[in-house]
Amino acid sequence: MRIHLRTLGCRLNQREIETMARHFRRQGHEIVDDPALADQIVVNTCAVTEDASRASRRLVRGLNRENAAAQITVTGCYAQIAPDQIAVIPGVARVVDNGTKDQLVTTITGQTVEPFDLEPITRDTPTHLARTRAFVKVQDGCDNACTFCVTTIARGAGRSRDLSDVLGEIHLLTAMGYQEAVLTGVHLGSYGQDRGEHDGLVMLVKAILAETDIPRLRLSSLEPWDLTPDFFELWSNPRLCPHLHLPLQSGCDATLKRMLRKTTQAQFRALMQAARSAISDPCITSDVIVGFPGETDEEFAISATYIGEMDFAGMHVFRYSKRPGTAAARMRNHVPEDVKKARSETLIALAAEQERRYAERHLHTERPVAWEHVSGATQDGFVNVGYTDNYIRVTALHPRALTGHVLPARLTDYDPVKQMVRAIPLIETESEWTT
Ligand code: SF4
Repeated sequence: MRIHLRTLGCRLNQREIETMARHFRRQGHEIVDDPALADQIVVNTCAVTEDASRASRRLVRGLNRENAAAQITVTGCYAQIAPDQIAVIPGVARVVDNGTKDQLVTTITGQTVEPFDLEPITRDTPTHLARTRAFVKVQDGCDNACTFCVTTIARGAGRSRDLSDVLGEIHLLTAMGYQEAVLTGVHLGSYGQDRGEHDGLVMLVKAILAETDIPRLRLSSLEPWDLTPDFFELWSNPRLCPHLHLPLQSGCDATLKRMLRKTTQAQFRALMQAARSAISDPCITSDVIVGFPGETDEEFAISATYIGEMDFAGMHVFRYSKRPGTAAARMRNHVPEDVKKARSETLIALAAEQERRYAERHLHTERPVAWEHVSGATQDGFVNVGYTDNYIRVTALHPRALTGHVLPARLTDYDPVKQMVRAIPLIETESEWTT
């Protein structure tokens, strides 16, 4: 059977689709890049904003136009909250909710998914497709109640994977040649809490660093209220990448309160200071929502000033959109679209400026770069693209395709158009390359 897989939205979705690909291959099926060649298509949708929902519907319709004969299976957060709207799209054979997503491969193929063993996965992954960075889902669901969030409705209560399961997966990824594991979860900071553990994430990170040989470990998004100052002691181990993604959502206390976020300006500032005193110039990125219901010009101005003060290394800016079933959708004083657009443009410009400043602070230094892919080639070599440990996106022209390796590079200059840093890989000898 030939299967085409597509995903929208967060890293967790990406991670899930990668896992499905491995399961399909393990059963002897073929993953195809071209939807026109597929017998079955799987789409992992997103519903984080109205735009994401619209993009999910558009993607499913488009895939049906490209291949009307293929059966389409739709899963993910949009399928969870609006199954009826998905089911009527031509070509959709089944809608699978998030709760039964783990059985999706079996549902399509009728074959049992065997537990992975090392040898077939290694065989499944030819070296020219070797991946550098793998996302490892360790947790799903969330017990918080942020008033704008549909994810918590779509993904249910928080639940954590067994530690031994996670360690097993990271052992496999290491053996397959992956250079970096990124721990992901809807509410990663709550890892272990469903089992009554108070420091589950700390224990998980310590266990991975002590018991596996994965060269680099990175944490994805962490809610600020889950972290205590001693959490940052973990970064005394250099294998843990100095990168934190701490979603702030608003820099105004009044807005944060209406969002039911469990943090304030003062608490978030203290957390940033603790991180910066424990880790040398960490890359701290964030998410911000503009135009949340009731956000006045004054609240936005307070938020923008605070965000400027936080001096993030990058930021995703979202325009608030009503999500069905959420408390915020029922609030009064929704902000007009043109106001949201203007606020979003202001913060996107601020984010670009903060990103540039952070990258430029690291110019003329050497950083380990995990080279992820080649974006093209010129007569001077391959255009290699990767990320430093502190999450600066870098590009380098080199006679070799460096994909799949972590190699030191000197950061030379910042390209403001591509928003990435040019670098020179430091590979001195051929023997160094082959080791
Ligand atoms: S912490 Fe808030 S925003 Fe994040 S998934 Fe939970 S409810 Fe949603």
